[in-house]
Amino acid sequence: MDHGIASAPELSELLELSARIGADAALVQGLGGNTSLKRDGVMWIKASGAWLSQARERPMMVPVRLAALLAALDSNDPACETAAGFVIPELNPQGLRPSIETTMHAALPHRVVLHVHCVETIAWAVQADAQARLAPLLDGLGWSFVPYVRPGLPLTQLMRTLVRADTTVVVLANHGLVVCGDTVAAAAATLAEVVSRLKRTVRPAPEPDLAALEQGSADYGYRLPRLPVVHAIAADRQSLDIARRGSLYPDHIVFLGRGVFALGAHESLGDGLQRARREGRGEPALVLVPGKGALIRAVAPRAAEAIAGCLGDVLQRLRADEPIRVLAPDEEDAIANWDAELYRKALARRPA
Ligand SMILES: [Zn+2]
Repeated sequence: MDHGIASAPELSELLELSARIGADAALVQGLGGNTSLKRDGVMWIKASGAWLSQARERPMMVPVRLAALLAALDSNDPACETAAGFVIPELNPQGLRPSIETTMHAALPHRVVLHVHCVETIAWAVQADAQARLAPLLDGLGWSFVPYVRPGLPLTQLMRTLVRADTTVVVLANHGLVVCGDTVAAAAATLAEVVSRLKRTVRPAPEPDLAALEQGSADYGYRLPRLPVVHAIAADRQSLDIARRGSLYPDHIVFLGRGVFALGAHESLGDGLQRARREGRGEPALVLVPGKGALIRAVAPRAAEAIAGCLGDVLQRLRADEPIRVLAPDEEDAIANWDAELYRKALARRPA
């Protein structure tokens, strides 16, 4: 039987869609997001550390033995966590490692699964009462809501207890969205439908004070962000208020550390950076200057700014008077100390 990736028109259709999704910062930021296709007993899943936006340019789909992985999930085998042991080596000449979210794709029965960190969805999924507020919006779609647990095996096992046979939409609290379908086109249509139903009002942000931000920043190894929305995190009062409460979702912790680092009202960048070191934050990838805007550490991985852009996009969709749930300290620890995420972070440091 030929499982060859090149011989499957459906797989090239999925790669096309993956590249399109990956190029849309409202859906995928940095290394986030992943797609999969189940075919002839094999699940092709995005490689860990790959940018979905490059799906047309470089090999990034890893073949995994589906039945074996599902059997291992049934017995809660810890080998499922990385799923590396289920890869079919003869179909994986590049030696790619499967996504850290592989088990989540395997657990859904549909052939095509798309997972995105959609900013419209996240803006709902961080609400403490998300499930109740989403119910009228997603009415008529087969959808499930999964309360927050760490991604990887814990999330997959919880999700398996909550999804039904007709579930094609899964909202993951403090994380993102999963949609599925039996064809690439069906999954793509469901994704578009959910995004349009969940659209929120975007609050316009005040203009950043670029001159004040830039002054002396290069001397400390910082630069202006390329994405204008990153400034909104600090220039917009409501956004800054919410950002200061803590981390909204896992990728934030992986690439920006816990919560945010903001300068005090009259604190200089130099003094602030010294304080960051004293507080054990090292050199923060993102520095917020209240009322003015943001700075990015010049040597931070490209993914860090993409994740900061996601934060800005989500915050401009939130109001400070909403019941927003941030991750608890033990939930932050579980992400910060998670081996699979350390691997992904290491890959993010490699030049793309
Ligand atoms: Zn995710």
